[in-house]
Amino acid sequence: MAEIVRFAPSPTGNIHIGNARPALINWLVAQKTGGQFILRFDDTDAERSRQEYADNIAEDLAWLGVTPDRVERQSARMEAYDAVAQKLKDMGRLYACYESADELDRKRKRQRARGLPPVYDRAALELNAEQIAAYEAEGRKPHWRFLLDQKSVTWEDGVRGTQSIECDSVSDPVLIREDGTYLYTLPSVIDDVDMGVTMVIRGDDHVTNTAVQIQIFELLTDKVPQFAHHNLIINASGEGLSKRLGSLSIRSMREDGYEPLSVAIFAVLNGTSESVQPLADMAALADLFALDKVSRSASKFDIADLVHLNARILHETGYDAVAGRLAALGIEGGEAFWHAVRGNIERLPDVKDWWSIAHEGLPEDAVEKDPADADFYARALALLPQEPWDETTWKSWTSALKSETGRKGKTLFMPLRVALTGRSHGPELAAFLPLIGYQRSVDRLS
Ligand code: GLU
Repeated sequence: MAEIVRFAPSPTGNIHIGNARPALINWLVAQKTGGQFILRFDDTDAERSRQEYADNIAEDLAWLGVTPDRVERQSARMEAYDAVAQKLKDMGRLYACYESADELDRKRKRQRARGLPPVYDRAALELNAEQIAAYEAEGRKPHWRFLLDQKSVTWEDGVRGTQSIECDSVSDPVLIREDGTYLYTLPSVIDDVDMGVTMVIRGDDHVTNTAVQIQIFELLTDKVPQFAHHNLIINASGEGLSKRLGSLSIRSMREDGYEPLSVAIFAVLNGTSESVQPLADMAALADLFALDKVSRSASKFDIADLVHLNARILHETGYDAVAGRLAALGIEGGEAFWHAVRGNIERLPDVKDWWSIAHEGLPEDAVEKDPADADFYARALALLPQEPWDETTWKSWTSALKSETGRKGKTLFMPLRVALTGRSHGPELAAFLPLIGYQRSVDRLS
């Protein structure tokens, strides 16, 4: 079935890998089913929402390869929300409450002290006209709670299987704040109904909300969407990711030179029954992914795993796919260079180091030549062939050097590598030596 799905971020910060997960999963489901992906900004909180963040989110998603079929923002739909809120008030399912935050806090403390769950006691339902008038005279404004049906709500979750929530242990949720603004709970349901959303895929921190929202859906429509709650990503110390974790933001990964495909594969497959693996493109990721492969326990994020995946993807990336980005790094006409170094980098910008080793000078932190090898270097220099050089030059040069010095293996190759590149690890020298060229090789061996 063609699923209509949505990713609904609040534009109150940049997205990180943990937010990219629902975005990508929703998008993949739309791709797989020939459906529609809606990017919806949950921006009813005018104070914290910023256009700049909405723009950044759209840009970060585009970088990941996620392009919405439709973009919506809740701030443009207030009339629709007001109409439904009025309807719920008329039905007696949305009721005014006057407790201050402090009063609610004290209530919860008393409940805990008596060993009771801190569920809202519905005292506001008992207020008479006189008490309400007194509150209003004090200048208090009401906030509005949804009157839950205290039943058990059950659904078939696309990831977690059958889920059941007992609503008598859930507080009637506040849908409208004292200042008249909506929390996301009600607008989200209204949007999902109006936009024909067929499947809500989001993090498992929303499981309780789902029970509440299913009750609201049932009042508004006979087509309640399906729900799927994916596991959340946690860091190595087991904590959830917060918006303040700058280093894991999609922006910073892009600036650090990660491949968007690596970030996408990692964000989706880590924490599923599939291993994190290089794939050709997003279509291949869509083929491999299925909601029922997502684990129920948290998905642990280790940056080292992403680095490793990124390196594996680069090792298999052809020149045409990176030529533009290499040019942006000042590397033009570098096809032979790319093939020589792609197996030795973790992130694309790492090529800069090898480009300057090939075409400019040795790195500042170059490994020093061992003075004990002076004689060996003198012979190497004497045997160095004249140009033109090609991929066979290294072999013929080192074979000649081997028979003259009797050195072989590491004792033959390592001093040459160190002198020519200033590094003890790096690209195959058969491919890299011609890039260094005769004159620089002479200088470095001398
Ligand atoms: N704005 C909500 C969030 O970011 C959306 C949740 C949902 O997908 O319904 O958590």
